[in-house]
Amino acid sequence: MKILEDKILAEGQAVNADILKVDGFINHQVDPKLMQAIGQEFADHFKDQGITKVATIESSGIAPALTTAQALGVPLLILKKQPSKVLNTDLYQTEVSSFTKGTSYELTLSQKFISEKDHVLIIDDFLANGEAATGAIRLLRLAHATVAGLGIVIEKTFQPGHEKLAGQGIEVYALARIARMEKDYIEFLR
Ligand code: 5GP
Repeated sequence: MKILEDKILAEGQAVNADILKVDGFINHQVDPKLMQAIGQEFADHFKDQGITKVATIESSGIAPALTTAQALGVPLLILKKQPSKVLNTDLYQTEVSSFTKGTSYELTLSQKFISEKDHVLIIDDFLANGEAATGAIRLLRLAHATVAGLGIVIEKTFQPGHEKLAGQGIEVYALARIARMEKDYIEFLR
């Protein structure tokens, strides 16, 4: 997606070979116009698949997930992160390890908002090792919901997330795919 790649080149910051900062338009300050275009692009790509809900992992996926849900005309589910297992039988929960942060958390979803009738599109800001997305899929499957695919704003193709998800039969649609980074240098895969 050209406008996204241009924005990443103009305002993104490659901290090192692994981490890209996009605090000025996705992660801290949010560019609503760009989010609208991103949501429309995801909706156009996944339309006609009978999607009933969009899901994201709090918190940085919320902006693009909301515009996608709006464009598809379906509700948005925010999968919540809890520091440890919660004693609540009304919740689905699964443990996710964050390699980036070296920690783990419980991803949770209220049984009230999901059922086996749901066909869910997952949206997230980044795809790196694929741990967050794999956890989201596990959680949705606990509810016997089905997964339509994964929409990613920025994929770092040199990290193993895409392979891990494609290996589970999940369609991954990424709007910007980074082939390689170095400090202050970004190269896209086109
Ligand atoms: P995973 O390794 O599970 O695919 O990535 C998990 C989460 O880490 C993503 O949803 C995103 O919030 C965050 N993340 C991973 N890589 C980056 C990065 O290069 N920059 C930023 N800002 N966040 C990242």
